[in-house]
Amino acid sequence: MRLILLGAPGSGKGTMGEMISRATGFPRISTGDLLRKAVREDNPVGRKAEAVMKSGGLVEDATVTELVRERIAAPDCLGGYILDGYPRTIAQAEAIEAIDPARPEIVLDRAVGEETIVGRLSGRRICPSCGAVFHVVNMPPKVAGVCDACEGDLVQRADDAAATIRERLRVYHEATAPLQARYRNKGTYRSVDGEGFPEEVYSRIAGVLAGPRPSAGKGRSA
Ligand code: AMP
Repeated sequence: MRLILLGAPGSGKGTMGEMISRATGFPRISTGDLLRKAVREDNPVGRKAEAVMKSGGLVEDATVTELVRERIAAPDCLGGYILDGYPRTIAQAEAIEAIDPARPEIVLDRAVGEETIVGRLSGRRICPSCGAVFHVVNMPPKVAGVCDACEGDLVQRADDAAATIRERLRVYHEATAPLQARYRNKGTYRSVDGEGFPEEVYSRIAGVLAGPRPSAGKGRSA
């Protein structure tokens, strides 16, 4: 199974991805995390991606697709995987189908209002050491500013600044939202109400995943 988490930035894809991963055993693959790791390592991909990410734009399709191609070749992806933040463009959607054509697919889209999105992103804090994600109101750490898991100092992501949030939403509407129609046509699209606490949203997702599944990897359209 290939589970694609569509949703706008701040729709809670990461949190849901982790919950689905724990329930299914499928690894969650976040292209944002892979890119942030590359930036931390200061490798060629990271050097190319850093400025684009800070501005709220999209990293080149070929660069991100290569990261995904390598990751899904790992043995833990054999039974299935969860894509968080990929595909974000039509070209990327075509690429993943070319790389792994036979895999059955479900696309989960979280419908969330713009106000909720801005609230989620501006309150988000991450642990740069272990990657854990918190929210100052919705999911606060036990001690303010300190990671529950590894006691690292929590920080705000550079691209969660107010001006960058607006640009990321603009890019989402322009480049990523058109994927909804594409997956509707394929028959793999499932929309889930993304408002509410993580447990509430997750139980809606679990209901969708327990429902009828598309059997063919390529769906109805070529
Ligand atoms: P995320 O953690 O998914 O919000 O991603 C953070 C940033 O990484 C995005 O704003 C983009 O700059 C970049 N990024 C992540 N995934 C992709 C992708 N599939 N295509 C292009 N850029 C991406």
